[in-house]
Amino acid sequence: MLAASRPLGRRLCSVLAAPVFDQRLSLTYVKAGDYRLPLDFGMSIQRSSCLEVPGGVVSYILHGNCYLNITNRCTLRCSFCPKFNGAWDVQGNALRLRREPTADEILDAVGDPRSYREIVFCGLGEPTLRLYTSLEIASRLRARGGRVRINTDGLANMVYGRDVTPDLEDNIDALSISLNAQNEILYNRYCRPKLAGAYHSLLDFARRAYDFVPDVTLTAIDGLPGVDIDACASIAAGIGVKFRRRVLDEVG
Ligand code: SF4
Repeated sequence: MLAASRPLGRRLCSVLAAPVFDQRLSLTYVKAGDYRLPLDFGMSIQRSSCLEVPGGVVSYILHGNCYLNITNRCTLRCSFCPKFNGAWDVQGNALRLRREPTADEILDAVGDPRSYREIVFCGLGEPTLRLYTSLEIASRLRARGGRVRINTDGLANMVYGRDVTPDLEDNIDALSISLNAQNEILYNRYCRPKLAGAYHSLLDFARRAYDFVPDVTLTAIDGLPGVDIDACASIAAGIGVKFRRRVLDEVG
């Protein structure tokens, strides 16, 4: 159940966004070390807002979506990740968590899920490391009319040691899975997985998830040296899922 009242100490903040917006590509970036990392797609933004509990910013609103920052833990150590480049702020939202929020805190941070185009599990961490908390939240949000997407590294089957994709059925509307490279060598160079075999595991995860989630997309960042976007798109096509190109701009 949702908490009837706001937890003590929670803070609603609204900040002027300072996005790097490429009008030609209709893409918005967050600067990450030497790179510019696209945060999301297709819509310019004027403002972002965030909801903070005592442990840190749990939700932030961009592009009409509500993004959820539920963990800072990751199975990858991506070279382009803001947190590995000394930056924990994403478009004015400080996403470093002092503790992981509870399911009720996360639900409370969303409010009315029908207010957003999508609720997206996407913070500075891998949401499937809290898979069953995520699914509980997703189920409750969908029951109240929300559309839910998880942005993931696609390594949950490795982490849990079994195929978890059937558990996504009827809980998740969309999955966005970071492919990031057309081969394992490049993937390992940029994503620096902690677990051996990660690249093949994420591809297998995408194949399996296709059976249980209606909208599955692989993504790759255009602009990382050696990454062949067309080859990445072909991999997605071969699996039968969508592909989305993210763009890595040059440092201006
Ligand atoms: S998976 Fe995301 S949060 Fe984790 S290291 Fe990579 S870019 Fe950063």
